[in-house]
Amino acid sequence: MSDSPTTTPYDIVIIGTGHAGAQAAIALRQEGFDGTIAMIGEEAYPPYERPPLSKEYLAGEKAFERILIRPERFWEERAVTLRLAERIVAVDAEARCLTTQAGALVEYGTLIWAAGGHARRLSCDGHDLSGVHSVRNRADVDRLIAELPDVREVVVVGGGYIGLEAAAVLTKFGKAVTIVEAQDRVLARVAGEALSRFYEAEHRAHGVTIRLNESVACLEGERAISGVRLADGSVLPAQMAIVGIGIIPSVEPLIAAGAEGDNGVTVDAQGRTSLPHVFAIGDCAAHANAFADGAVIRLESVQNAHDQATVAARTIMGKEVANHAVPWFWSNQYDLKLQTVGLSAGHDRAILRGDPAGRSFSVVYLRGDRVIALDCVNAMRDFVQGKALVADGAVVPDEALADPERPLKTLWPLG
Ligand code: ADP
Repeated sequence: MSDSPTTTPYDIVIIGTGHAGAQAAIALRQEGFDGTIAMIGEEAYPPYERPPLSKEYLAGEKAFERILIRPERFWEERAVTLRLAERIVAVDAEARCLTTQAGALVEYGTLIWAAGGHARRLSCDGHDLSGVHSVRNRADVDRLIAELPDVREVVVVGGGYIGLEAAAVLTKFGKAVTIVEAQDRVLARVAGEALSRFYEAEHRAHGVTIRLNESVACLEGERAISGVRLADGSVLPAQMAIVGIGIIPSVEPLIAAGAEGDNGVTVDAQGRTSLPHVFAIGDCAAHANAFADGAVIRLESVQNAHDQATVAARTIMGKEVANHAVPWFWSNQYDLKLQTVGLSAGHDRAILRGDPAGRSFSVVYLRGDRVIALDCVNAMRDFVQGKALVADGAVVPDEALADPERPLKTLWPLG
C-alpha cells in the first residue's frame, strides 16, 4: 500500500465559504459552467452571511438557518462539492495543487481564493484569557453568547462597525458596556467626523461609556478575564472583552507561492492575481478602486465580495467584464439604519443634509467639487438616489445637497 496522500482534482477550486466564495460558485453555475467545482472552507458550516453575526444573530433575533446564504441542499443540487472544516496551508501554482492542513492534496484547473481574513487579536498580556472574544465567525459568536449570562460588564476594544454593533446589542441585553477606542473618535477609518460624533452621542444616550484616545495595556485575570488595564493605569472591571480591531487578510499560502501582495493579494479588474490560473476576490483582494481615486485598497463588504465574485466567474467563462461597482455598505445599531455609498476616505468637504437631532439625515462627502460618498442614517431615499451621484462623480451646488427637501434625483443628472 502506498502512503502517499490522495489527490482529488477539480476544474475549479474555491477557497473560502463566505459571501465571495459562495457567490463565485453561484455565478459560475448561472453562467453555465458545467465542470466540477469544490468549495473548501476551514469553518464547519455551509456558507452563511457574516454581517448578522454582530447584529441579529448576536441579538438572538435570527437563527442560524435564517442567515444561510442558500439552503444546504442548494450546493448539492448545483453539484458544488463542499469540503468543510478543511484548511489550505500551501499552494503550488506550477503544479496547480493545494495542500490541506491534514495533508490531503487538491488539484485545480482554476483557483479562486476567497479566504477573507481572520480577526486581528490584541498582542498584550492576557489577550488569550477566557472571556476574550472576536466577532468574525459563527463559532466566535456562539462562544460569546454562551458566556453572556455570567457577564455584567463588557469592554469592547475598537470603535469600528463591529465594536459599535456589538455594543448596541449587549446594551440591549442590559450589560454595562465600555468602548475603548485608540483614535480620537469612533468610525475614524470609515466615516467623517459628524457621523462619528452622532454615533458616539447615540451610544452614550443608551448608557455606553466611550473612552477615546485610549489604548489597552493588558487584560487582567487568572484564567478568565476580570478587567482591562488601560495605558493610563486605570482598570475597567470586565467579565468579557470583545475585540473588534479589524481583520488580517488570509493570504499567506498565496503570498508564499509567489503571488504579489502584502496587505491582501493584488488583483486586476477581473480578479486575477499575479499567479497563472489564480483569482482572488472579497475581503482579501487588493485592487485599484476608481472610487478611491485609483488607490489599491481592500474592501470588506458583502457588495464587494459579491461583485468581485461575479466578475471573476464571468471572466473564467470567457466574458469581457471588469469590476467598477460602486461600493456600498450598511450598519444597524439600535433603531438606526446606516447605509453608505462610495468611499469617504480622502474627502475634503462634508455637507450635512438634514438634522441629526431628527435621527434621519445624510452626510454628503466631496473631493474637489465632486460627490464621492454618502452616509445615510435612516435615510433610505438618499442612499438609493445618491448612488448615481457617486457613480458619476456629480458636481452639484452645496446648497442643493444641503437641502433635504430637494430629492437627490432631481439634482443629478443636470438638465
Ligand atoms: P472592524 O471591522 O473590526 O470594526 P475597523 O478597522 O473598521 O474594524 O475598526 C477597528 C477600530 O479599532 C478602529 O477604529 C481602530 O482605531 C480601533 N483599534 C485598533 N486597534 C486598537 C486597539 N489596540 N485598541 C483600541 N482600539 C483599536
